[in-house]
Amino acid sequence: MRLFQKHFCAVAISLWAVSPGSARLLVEPTLHIKPEAGSGRVALTLDACGGKTDTRILSALVENKIPATIFVTGIWLKHNAAAVEIMRAHPDLFELENHGGRHLPAVDTPQKIYGIRSAGSPQAVLAEVESGAAALAVTGEPAPKWFRGATAEYSPSAIAMIRKLGFKIAGFSINGDGGSLLGAKETARRIAAANDGDVIIAHINQPTHAAGEGVVQGLLALKAKGLTFVRLDDADGVGNEGTTD
Ligand SMILES: [Zn+2]
Repeated sequence: MRLFQKHFCAVAISLWAVSPGSARLLVEPTLHIKPEAGSGRVALTLDACGGKTDTRILSALVENKIPATIFVTGIWLKHNAAAVEIMRAHPDLFELENHGGRHLPAVDTPQKIYGIRSAGSPQAVLAEVESGAAALAVTGEPAPKWFRGATAEYSPSAIAMIRKLGFKIAGFSINGDGGSLLGAKETARRIAAANDGDVIIAHINQPTHAAGEGVVQGLLALKAKGLTFVRLDDADGVGNEGTTD
């Protein structure tokens, strides 16, 4: 019996390791910016996956002159012209980058990640990246240099493909709002804990979620501590998993 159990476990482990549909084969890359002497600097990245605009966050960024890198999808761009106009009116604050055309995870095998169906093939990953860039081009913004896929999870082969297209891939080091699902207090706590070199991820497309209030509180706390904010195009971003080198 003991032998059977041992054998069974070995088979189970090997199946689990090689299963092509296994989410275990995906990577969630990190990104840091080069530290700087002084009181430190962080990069704020905000995803606009779809839906609307959290004007609490957008207004706070403008009022407090906090620069941010906004990852936008083709879907979001189509329905948020007023927000895009505000961002484009402040080119010193906002850098718009590529979050894909349809918000499909850049995973080239069919599977679901956090309930979202992956692009599912190399061709579909390519289409997701290129349609995101094309949607940004229509706004008149500079061509994007960074890509972040929906869910921020990737298959390693998709990472290699996206790099060949000329994009760096934006991981992060602090998950600020847990996919915009955290409460205001916890979101504020996570963001306020950022240190020199951190790259924060949060969302700017969920105006009804409590997390948005926490994003604003966390950012103001960082600003009060004397940290400065930089956009990804103003900093040397270093990621793992071959995402930036
Ligand atoms: Zn997203």
